[in-house]
Amino acid sequence: MVDVTIIGCGIIGAAAAFELSKYNVSVLVLEKENDIALGATRANSAIIHAGYDPKPGTIMARLNVRGCEMAKQLTSDLDVPYINNGSLVLAFSEKEMETVRMLYARGNENGVPGLTILSKEEVLKMEPYVSEEVHGALYAPSAGIVNPWEYAIAMAETAVKNGAEIRLNAKVTGISKTASGYSVSVNEHESIETRYVINAAGA
Ligand SMILES: Cc1cc2nc3c(=O)[nH]c(=O)nc-3n(C[C@H](O)[C@H](O)[C@H](O)COP(=O)(O)OP(=O)(O)OC[C@H]3O[C@@H](n4cnc5c(N)ncnc54)[C@H](O)[C@@H]3O)c2cc1C
Repeated sequence: MVDVTIIGCGIIGAAAAFELSKYNVSVLVLEKENDIALGATRANSAIIHAGYDPKPGTIMARLNVRGCEMAKQLTSDLDVPYINNGSLVLAFSEKEMETVRMLYARGNENGVPGLTILSKEEVLKMEPYVSEEVHGALYAPSAGIVNPWEYAIAMAETAVKNGAEIRLNAKVTGISKTASGYSVSVNEHESIETRYVINAAGA
């Protein structure tokens, strides 16, 4: 009986395995592809968002701000490329400045540190190659960029070193409830008994 079975090994499955592997529980990750991090994790825009976008009061808002804060130390511990270069949301009209102000208010409510609304002159001073047509911007100094693929791989590798198992070419094809947890079907012909299931199979 496995304690926790994680479906999918993108950044979310890898992070769950990484975190759980710090504890005395058995962890099995089932990935349908022949390698990990081949889904959305492999090729996104690589931004560690500051957390001004999610709706205040949601779990996403809380975890976004916390995840952004954690990334600096975590990427350093895992030796993953990361740059804390901040982010700009540029506005090219007064109407778009309304969105900038809305995100500023939302970000402050979410607890994003150091948010500032920049004037046209301040944006151009910070980023001289931005179009002269810019009206202003939201600047979030806590944002950064990371290599999301390496981030996932580093977390998965560490999880394995800590005792987690990752099975490739293992597509989950069904889940049913049992008295002690769940029975997870893999590739239609194998069953795995597990206490808990984490669905990290992506969108
Ligand atoms: C164009 C684009 C740009 C983006 N830019 C950013 C950005 O800058 N910053 C940011 O934070 N986010 C960004 N995102 C979002 C980000 O990429 C996703 O939120 C993140 O990668 C989701 O990770 P995941 O682990 O949930 O999913 P995935 O990376 O898709 O992983 C899911 C895994 O589950 C596996 N799987 C699926 N079904 C099964 C099954 N039945 N059995 C076993 N395994 C299964 C898949 O093979 C895959 O490996 C962007 C997304 C896109 C599309």
